[in-house]
Amino acid sequence: NSGVLGRAMENGLISVKAVNIRDYTADKHGKCDDTPFGGGAGMVMTPQPIHDAIKALDPGREALRIYMSPKVKTLAQATVLRLAKQERLLILCGNYEGVDQRVIDEDIDEEISIGDYVLTGGELPAMVLINACARYVKGVLGSEHSTDEESFVGGLLEYPQYTRPREYLGREV
Ligand code: SAM
Repeated sequence: NSGVLGRAMENGLISVKAVNIRDYTADKHGKCDDTPFGGGAGMVMTPQPIHDAIKALDPGREALRIYMSPKVKTLAQATVLRLAKQERLLILCGNYEGVDQRVIDEDIDEEISIGDYVLTGGELPAMVLINACARYVKGVLGSEHSTDEESFVGGLLEYPQYTRPREYLGREV
């Protein structure tokens, strides 16, 4: 809700809706996880609440449905540009050991990792993806040219940047 994206939301350029999977569980105790078949440590998110949440949020299958996962190819700028053109993204964030594979097979179009390391949940990865894509939505950045000459555009990295003063700590621009 803050900074550039906060302003973009205020101005109606993008909107982000956070949904609690637990609100969709059929379990009377609100349970959304269970022990993994095959043993091993940790819990797995059960398929029913996730499938029902996705069905309720995207009944016409209009959104591009993404699951944030450390197991797949890492996010790159080309993917960001492609996803930024989508009208709507539905992003599933796993927790614990992840989600039951059947819900990925049934409901998800694409899996994205934000890097080769493991976080406790998909929320930060989802925010990274949203932030990277939102920069390409018209009007979100102050100048439309901000994205023209930055790293990864055209396969190159950006040059070093300087501002005033012309000399600082004995170092010149
Ligand atoms: N057991 C999984 C594994 O070994 O691949 C890791 C599960 S992780 C603790 C819990 C959730 O965090 C994942 O289901 C995923 O949604 C999210 N997550 C963790 N690291 C991530 C990454 N690098 N990129 C995207 N999502 C990530």
